[in-house]
Amino acid sequence: MSRETTLPPFHPLDPAGIDDLLSPDEKAVRAAVRRLCAEQIDPHVADWFERGQIDDIRGLAMELGAMGLLGMHLDGYGCAGMSATEYGLACLELEATDSGIRSLVSVQGSLAMFAIWRWGSEEQKSEWLPRMATGEAIGCFGLTEPDFGSDPGSMRTRARKDGADWVLDGRKMWITNGSIADVAVVWAQTDDKIRGFVVPTNTPGFAAPEIKHKQSLRASVTSELILDGVRLPESAVLPDVSGLKGPLSCLNEARYGILWGAMGAARSSLESALSYANDRIQFDKPISAFQLTQQKLVDMNLEYTKGLLLALHLGRRKDAGLLLPEQVSLGKLNNVREALEICRTARTILGANGISLEYPVMRHANNLESVLTYEGTVEMHTLVLGQAMTGQAAFR
Ligand SMILES: Cc1cc2nc3c(=O)[nH]c(=O)nc-3n(C[C@H](O)[C@H](O)[C@H](O)COP(=O)(O)OP(=O)(O)OC[C@H]3O[C@@H](n4cnc5c(N)ncnc54)[C@H](O)[C@@H]3O)c2cc1C
Repeated sequence: MSRETTLPPFHPLDPAGIDDLLSPDEKAVRAAVRRLCAEQIDPHVADWFERGQIDDIRGLAMELGAMGLLGMHLDGYGCAGMSATEYGLACLELEATDSGIRSLVSVQGSLAMFAIWRWGSEEQKSEWLPRMATGEAIGCFGLTEPDFGSDPGSMRTRARKDGADWVLDGRKMWITNGSIADVAVVWAQTDDKIRGFVVPTNTPGFAAPEIKHKQSLRASVTSELILDGVRLPESAVLPDVSGLKGPLSCLNEARYGILWGAMGAARSSLESALSYANDRIQFDKPISAFQLTQQKLVDMNLEYTKGLLLALHLGRRKDAGLLLPEQVSLGKLNNVREALEICRTARTILGANGISLEYPVMRHANNLESVLTYEGTVEMHTLVLGQAMTGQAAFR
């Protein structure tokens, strides 16, 4: 029989046929998120990025909540209870739109909600999770400080006991969603170990000024958290965890979403470069007809395909309860690094147009500079894997 009648067609953006590995439910989640992005976000996101402001961010959060995307892989308390793979596919689609929108969802679901869901009291869960799942309440996660990022164990923010209360003093830096948050999960050093605190942002002494002048993740709110004598009842402590294990468990969840998300930025840039290369005529030919352009397109697609396969494999492991933190490091390190390279290469194919916000590639590349650094820098994940391979910790 001829190839036409027996084989499926070749898809330029899925050359290995990875789609066949997805279930109908997974494809349905992906299609629904893709539709939401195409209708509600794509038409505006370049403008939001340019102005450094998302119009009606609360309305957007409610839309995302209505689709079950906030805390979507958590069970109960109004959360959608979807699989890790479905969550990953959603992150990919959101980041194909913009890393800032995926960051909004990741910080809400994987950092703030996960911290309360995994380590919180029943009272904390019932108070916050249902409203956070709908997007009515927005959360942030305060770990990084002006002087300590990769080394959060040295944090200076302090929580001290005063009678039955806790009093928090310190600063957090680079906190996504900070200025719009209704609740902040704040990690602070106590006389004993690091503890997590659920802080309503209207508590006296709490302030969250927005950080301006970013050249990356401009369609995302990034803030400083100021804690000046923030007095909280004992019930504000996350009761079930102490030490760095608390924040690291949450980061592991968010990094998992990122290793999928980065492939969305890569796909969007690859798609844009392919379409541009086919349309752009130089020397009487589409630039896609030149060998050097084809080399770039093929190399981009190889890395995209490998990254997507890795994400899917890690997603299946997470759904089977087998995913190790080192494997999350492997995925985050590889996929963000390669996605950034794909976006930079796509930028060259678009020539001067590549630097314009008329196309998404420079926006994605700029965003990925943040993604490469947050949730563990590329160097930190290298050291995590180096330690796992050799048994030698090279952090200090
Ligand atoms: C847009 C954005 C949003 C963010 N959102 C949040 C948030 O919501 N919540 C939050 O808590 N944080 C957030 N962060 C902070 C982020 O997690 C930190 O920036 C990150 O952990 C790195 O910390 P740092 O910037 O202090 O860099 P540093 O830790 O000072 O590192 C600087 C450089 O030194 C390298 N380095 C450090 N130590 C070593 C070592 N031992 N060996 C080799 N190299 C080393 C690093 O890899 C890096 O290249 C956000 C950051 C950005 C940019």
